Amino acid sequence: MAVLADRLDLLLGAKAATPLAEAFGITTVEDLLRHYPNRYATQGQPLTESDPPDGQHITIVGDIVKADMVKMKNRPGWMLKVVLQSESQKVDATFFNAHKVKHAVQAGRRAMFSGTVKYFRERWSLNHPSYLILPDVADHTAVQIDRVRGGGDLAGIARSALAPGQGVDMSIFDRKLLPVYPATSKIESWDIAHCVRQIFDQLDTVEDPLPSRIRNEHSLIGLDEALHLIHFPESEADVEKARSRLRFDEAAALQLVLAQRRNEMSARAAKSCPPRSDGIAAAFEDRLPFELTEGQHEVADEISADLSQPHPMSRLLQGEVGSGKTVVALRAMLQVVDAGQQCALLAPTEVLAAQHYRSLRAMLGPLGAGGELGAADESTRIVLLTGSMPTAAKRAALLAAVTGDAGIVIGTHALIQDNVEFFDLGMVVVDEQHRFGVEQRDALRSKAKSGFSPHLLVMTATPIPRTIAMTTLGDLETSTLRELPRGRSPIVTSVVPAKDKPAWVDRAWARINEEVAAGRQAYVVCSRIGDEKTGDKEPPTTHSALDMYEELKHGALRGVRVGLLHGRLPTDEKDAVMRGFNDGALDVIVCTTVVEVGVDVPNATVMVIVDADRFGVSQLHQLRGRIGRGGHKGLCILLSEANPVGPAFERLRAVAATNDGFELAVLDLRQRREGDILGAAQSGTVTTLRLLSLLDDLEVISAAQEFAREVVADDPGLERHPGLAAMMRSALDEQRLEYLEKS
Ligand code: ADP
Ligand code: MG
Repeated sequence: MAVLADRLDLLLGAKAATPLAEAFGITTVEDLLRHYPNRYATQGQPLTESDPPDGQHITIVGDIVKADMVKMKNRPGWMLKVVLQSESQKVDATFFNAHKVKHAVQAGRRAMFSGTVKYFRERWSLNHPSYLILPDVADHTAVQIDRVRGGGDLAGIARSALAPGQGVDMSIFDRKLLPVYPATSKIESWDIAHCVRQIFDQLDTVEDPLPSRIRNEHSLIGLDEALHLIHFPESEADVEKARSRLRFDEAAALQLVLAQRRNEMSARAAKSCPPRSDGIAAAFEDRLPFELTEGQHEVADEISADLSQPHPMSRLLQGEVGSGKTVVALRAMLQVVDAGQQCALLAPTEVLAAQHYRSLRAMLGPLGAGGELGAADESTRIVLLTGSMPTAAKRAALLAAVTGDAGIVIGTHALIQDNVEFFDLGMVVVDEQHRFGVEQRDALRSKAKSGFSPHLLVMTATPIPRTIAMTTLGDLETSTLRELPRGRSPIVTSVVPAKDKPAWVDRAWARINEEVAAGRQAYVVCSRIGDEKTGDKEPPTTHSALDMYEELKHGALRGVRVGLLHGRLPTDEKDAVMRGFNDGALDVIVCTTVVEVGVDVPNATVMVIVDADRFGVSQLHQLRGRIGRGGHKGLCILLSEANPVGPAFERLRAVAATNDGFELAVLDLRQRREGDILGAAQSGTVTTLRLLSLLDDLEVISAAQEFAREVVADDPGLERHPGLAAMMRSALDEQRLEYLEKS
């Protein structure tokens, strides 16, 4: 008897197994059984005396009473007009170009027809039904036929069930639901069904890795039953039962990996950094010009408690742009500095790293001037370290990191490079999680003193729906800042169909002029820079930042001071433009998404996004978070040349309709394939999900998480749960798993 791990070629023979391997990479019994039907064909409704509705799928058995070749009226060629007498009524069927069919479908024979009802005027018929010629006996399911004569699905199914020397077991047509598999032209659905049937004939009862306690708790059927039912259900209810069980397995496999990761992390040692009432953290709180919101207090306390532990914190801090994450993160860093440790703050771009450096220095005032004249007693030193800094400055920053002079080191990916060493790294803060992978997080973590892991705080402004966070970041605890600090005005967003309403576009530029006249500032965001080499390709249809800049400077915005900012400017130019915008020396910047995260100019009130349809929903939301930060009303104008009744425009309207980032994040994710979600979330646990929806299956995912954490807490290596270990392995992408084991 066979087991899940057995090779198919040995069980089915190479002739059947090779196409499965070539088309789907299916090589084992388990692979085949996990190739679930994506739908089920019904036998169709039984025909009654009344006329069936248009479009209904029916399957009927009857006697062919007429089968005539008729010349077609409107085009050349012949068709076969058939009348089938079933138990309940006479049925018309038509076959086009029926030269082959006419030899099989002849008056006097018995046949099964399966097709879709189509009405023409008052009469209905079946056009080109699939058909199977039957032996002339009353109960066709009781007989075996030796040779398949027919066409379409019915014949395919019969042929696949044809056992040499035994004929076709016609009882397979008794099933109410026939599995329909993802198939190719080389291997069709019924071939797969046939292989599955053969395997089930030889398969031992599949052992269930889930403890019965868990199965009972969540009303899950056994694995063996689930595998049988998903392929050969008797009813829709069977399909549902099977899917629930198998869906749970997928969630559990994922959660087991994450639980192991989490467990392994918390088993590591970290330097405990308990809060102090007399240090730089306390001094910082005293000099804050505002009260922390209740949400900020809560999160700050959670983090503070984590930092006091002798195990590394792994926490995700999410909150919309402007919700005050940076303040909370800085407070946490200072607690670590108070414990004599260093912190690294990682930003996704050099512009943002520089921006963080400036805003942290500003928030800290004399507390951040460590090593300089006039610094406060408790002060620490903050250094910036980026790839494009002049060598001398870089060397100074590296030195400050390795000697421990610098309490906080801010930088980009360059910080992860091997030549950066810390004297005693206690915490890593990663800003904008979505641009960093697990790999990078871990590289930084390895920079702590040997034997210790730094605490980790990951900040993201892209709200991550709970299901996604639990699946892809299940090794991180999550904190969320939901309220914005007082004094923020809501942003009004409007969508402008640029092609249909050129006057509205002019109005957008006029609004910028008005706001500038009132002392405010504005962004014009473009989807590309404009210095790309296009080669022989079609010229792009979008507006570039370079073109927009020239056009506006000499056109609609000629009266105001316009700057240009994009990622490929030399660093000093970038800095100069940012500084100019910060200081109010520039009224408007034309830019690319370099402003997407972190840039903070409270005086900016208008943002015009050009070719807005080129941006994702969450990205647009994030972009507009740049405005309306200073207590003045924000206005965001989305320009788009997309078709105003198409889906792209619909997305823009959705962005305009709500300011709820979570709602938009879900919308954004719905529009991608789920595989992309896993990929984009950089989880490190990419897997093939067949039944589990990362957006919809919150309950299943929570249940699986609880289960996985329980099991792993009790048996971290899953040595006592070999079935679960195998389930986990089989569900995971192998390379990724290797990576996880290494890290
Ligand atoms: P985020 O990092 O989440 O985008 P920041 O921490 O940069 O948000 O805060 C955005 C702005 O709001 C900053 O100018 C900051 O000084 C200010 N801010 C933060 N917390 C508060 C608060 N509790 N009350 C008033 N202003 C706040
Ligand atoms: Mg920030």
